[in-house]
Amino acid sequence: MNAVRGRFSARTVRVKAPGKVNVSLDVGPLRPDGYHSVASVFLAVSLYEEVAATSTDTGEITVSLSPASTLDLDGVDIPLDERNLAYKAAAIMTDVSEHSTGVHLEITKRVPVAGGMGGGSADAAATLLACDALWNSGLSRDELAHLAAELGADVPFSLLGGTAVGLGVGDELSPALVKAQTDWVLVTADFGLPTPEVYRTLDRLRADERGAVEEPAAVDPMILQALRSGDADALSRVLVNDLQRASIELAPSLRDTLGLGESLGAIAGIVSGSGPTVALLSHSPAAAEGLAEDLRHHGLDALAVHGPVHGARIISDTLL
Ligand code: ATP
Repeated sequence: MNAVRGRFSARTVRVKAPGKVNVSLDVGPLRPDGYHSVASVFLAVSLYEEVAATSTDTGEITVSLSPASTLDLDGVDIPLDERNLAYKAAAIMTDVSEHSTGVHLEITKRVPVAGGMGGGSADAAATLLACDALWNSGLSRDELAHLAAELGADVPFSLLGGTAVGLGVGDELSPALVKAQTDWVLVTADFGLPTPEVYRTLDRLRADERGAVEEPAAVDPMILQALRSGDADALSRVLVNDLQRASIELAPSLRDTLGLGESLGAIAGIVSGSGPTVALLSHSPAAAEGLAEDLRHHGLDALAVHGPVHGARIISDTLL
C-alpha cells in the first residue's frame, strides 16, 4: 500500500488507448474449438478511450463512466462489475503486482460500444498500463502484451497501436512499419452488433452456399504496400472484410450507409470488424472533414479520424 506518514496517499494515472479499424479481415471456417482463424490488418485510429486509475485504500476494484464521455451512454449495456474488461484487466494486474492497492477506474468512452472498433479492448489495454504504473509493477511491454492476450484478441493491438497484421484468432500480432497517414470517416450506429452473432451469421451464410472456405494464411501484401505509401486509391481496391455481408444481413441499413458514403465522395467504404461502425476512406484530412459534415447533414453520426496512431500511453500521473 502507498502509505505516507501512516496515511494513504492516492495517485491517479491517466492512460489513453486507441480504437481500431480492420483494413482487411479474412475469416476462416468455424474451428472445432468454436473459434475462427483470421488474417487481418489492424489500423489504430485517432479515436481514443481514456482510463483514469486512482489508487484507493478499500482493496477493491470499482469502475465508473466519466461524464466527459462523448458517446451517448443512455441505454447502452456496459457492465460496471467484474464483467467489465477494464475491471478484468485490473484484476489480472492485482494478481501479478506485489504492491497493488484498491483501484477506481473512471472510463471516458469515445469508441462506439459493440461497434466493431474494440472499445472495451482499448479500456482493458489502458487499464493494464495504468495499473502497471500505479503499482510500480515494472512489467515490460512484452509481459503486458502477454496479459493483454488473456483478456481478449483485440487487447494486445490496442496496447501496441500503429498498424499490425493479426493471425490466429487475431492475437498473433506482427507490427508493420507504416508512417504514411490515411484518412477515414467513421459512421457510428445507434445500435450494436454482438460479435459472436455476426460470426454465427457468416457461418450460416457459408453453410447455405456449401462452398469450401479456406484457412486464411496471410494478408494480401498489396494492403500493406498501399498503407505504407499512403495511397488511398490503391488501398480502396484491396479493402476486404469477410464479416461485412453477415453484418449487413443482420443490419441491412449498413448497405445504405456504405452507398451514401460513396455517393458523397468516399473513395471506398468497409464495415469495421463485426460492425456496425462503417469506415469510409478519404483522400485527405480536409476531404474526410467535409464528408463527415455532409453525412451529419444526412442525420448520421460521423467523425473524421486518421491512422495509424500510437498505442496505449500514459498522459498524466498525479499524486492527489
Ligand atoms: P470487438 O470488436 O472487440 O468485439 P466491440 O468494439 O464490437 O468489440 P465493445 O465496445 O468492446 O465491442 O464491447 C462489446 C460488449 O462488451 C459490450 O456490449 C459490453 O456489454 C461488454 N463490455 C465489457 N467491458 C466493456 C467496456 N469497458 N466498454 C464497453 N463494453 C464493454
